[in-house]
Amino acid sequence: MSGEFDIIKAYFSHKQSVRRDVDLDIGDDCAIVRVPDNSRIAITTDTLVAGTHFLTGANPAWVAHKALASNISDLAAMGATPAWCSLALTLPEADNEWLQSFSQAFFDLADYYNIHLIGGDTTKGPLSITITIQGFVPFERAILRSGAKVGDWIYVTGELGDSKAGLDVILNPDLRSHPAGDELEKRHYLSTPRVLAGQALVNVASSGIDISDGLISDLRHILNASGVGARLNLESLPVSDELLEFVKYNKEQAFQYALTSGEEYELCFTIPDYSRVSLESAMAYTGTRYTCIGQIQAGDELSLYFNHTKVNWQLAGYDHFLRKE
Ligand code: ADP
Ligand code: MG
Repeated sequence: MSGEFDIIKAYFSHKQSVRRDVDLDIGDDCAIVRVPDNSRIAITTDTLVAGTHFLTGANPAWVAHKALASNISDLAAMGATPAWCSLALTLPEADNEWLQSFSQAFFDLADYYNIHLIGGDTTKGPLSITITIQGFVPFERAILRSGAKVGDWIYVTGELGDSKAGLDVILNPDLRSHPAGDELEKRHYLSTPRVLAGQALVNVASSGIDISDGLISDLRHILNASGVGARLNLESLPVSDELLEFVKYNKEQAFQYALTSGEEYELCFTIPDYSRVSLESAMAYTGTRYTCIGQIQAGDELSLYFNHTKVNWQLAGYDHFLRKE
């Protein structure tokens, strides 16, 4: 079995995307990097644990993508530009095939966003992956959860609900034969972090968050932090053709998926009425779909309307899978 240093050398000392702002990367006690003038550093950490966030036998390439994409998504939510990351890997054994596939997918995504792996830690134990990522955000321009105001419009990027449907497929082998099953499973793992959209929203959005626990829970964070309420128009929620097929074209069920699906890594953000035109031009070059789904209101209630009628759906919140067992 390879030792810790052999693993680092073989799989994580990747020299293709060397950023000029990295003075020292893997190999010493710390990495040393340079921070541009007038920028602030945004920092975030996420952990994926086998058996909690993914099944132990899951495709290592997809696990790597999910681990890094969830971190990048946190930066995107604040409008930050990713720069550097570190990777703490706990492995039950040095499985070369697993490491090859994991590290290849990790660097594919890192290189795409010009993210430099500057260090980490490698230990033996139950499989878990912790990534800390750092990015730049212009001074006093980060998109926070606390800026939503009464009258602002609520938007989401992309389509919602696929990740939860994909999780259903992962957890119920019977659903694998569903025509949309493979695609939904893939979407659960292979989200697209909305970095360009986040950057485009920096001077336009009044608040923002990425959807990791489900639209309802994450929008609640914005409402609580901003001291406001909201109305959502459920028929506006963007859902994919595959999700509609998966729920047998039961729209109510599709919208319930959209409201509670976790690990979507789409952005939910608010836009003052006077910025709606700027939003169009800011988002035009990002190629990202975005949809208005409701409006911020006074108070603290989150009310749901379906075809103009108030509904009181009892929605199960998102839970990390396997946690219920
Ligand atoms: P120390 O014991 O001083 O913390 P380590 O022996 O853990 O250092 O790691 C040696 C070097 O390899 C350090 O620069 C560390 O950042 C890097 N490193 C360790 N594990 C990883 C990993 N999984 N990915 C990237 N770099 C790593
Ligand atoms: Mg160490």
